[in-house]
Amino acid sequence: MRHVLISGGSRGIGAALVRAFCADGARVAFLYRSGHEAAAVLARETGACAICCDVCDPEAVTAAVAQARDALGGDVDVLVNNAGVAHIALSRDVDDATWRRLLDTNLSGAFYLARAVQGAMIRQGFGRIVNIGSMWGKVGASCEVPYSAAKAGLRGLTMSLAKELGPSGITVNCVEPGVIDTEMNAALDAETRAALVAETPLSRIGTPDDVVAAVRFFASDAASFITGQCLGVDGGFAI
Ligand code: NDP
Repeated sequence: MRHVLISGGSRGIGAALVRAFCADGARVAFLYRSGHEAAAVLARETGACAICCDVCDPEAVTAAVAQARDALGGDVDVLVNNAGVAHIALSRDVDDATWRRLLDTNLSGAFYLARAVQGAMIRQGFGRIVNIGSMWGKVGASCEVPYSAAKAGLRGLTMSLAKELGPSGITVNCVEPGVIDTEMNAALDAETRAALVAETPLSRIGTPDDVVAAVRFFASDAASFITGQCLGVDGGFAI
């Protein structure tokens, strides 16, 4: 039975991942930052273990991984780095605190978690790490400079960790969603959504389940010879 840890599991794509891995029969723990009520409801619904942990804090991450190990009854063998935060503004209006928060949440948090779980994965000679990037990390987004830079950093993290951990039986891959229907995009008005759909070859907004399918694949035995890859789940937007 797989032991799965998902960051940012309280809503959106992360909550869909929690439901999917629980449905697959895995033991699942998830991290969240502030959505106590949503996390508690999801934990009750799925049987997953909810752990409040800000992924920007390396010490809290180390403690959360230990807590997950206890709750799961064994070491984490699948890590999904999904926690993320976006910020839309001209780069000249981005203050230092916002820059750091975007880099810390989207990039450093993934590093801290990968670092905290890898010792046990190396010992067991098996592990799967899936990072949730973004198509903006591939092609860049105007007015989303810190977010795009952090997600581009996840590409480097994915490839370098894949090389370092491959000999230990650990694969590291990245899923890069396009526009997905979650709270992260709640602020988009109808006109902007329509423009995004018009720019998408497959002519629709994505769903959390579109992302789940790619993550499940990278976590599965079918992907055992695939590592260091970035897979767009964007309806062709970033081709
Ligand atoms: P949501 O905004 O719906 O959910 C974000 C999740 O991340 C929440 O569970 C939130 O917890 C958690 N989170 C945020 N900051 C922290 C933190 N510091 N520590 C721990 N948890 C944190 O986002 P989505 O589901 O839309 O996005 C999930 C991932 O997919 C992100 O990495 C995002 O960048 C990426 N993505 C999303 C796209 C989209 O169009 N939606 C497109 C491309 C990529 P809490 O609720 O407690 O704050």
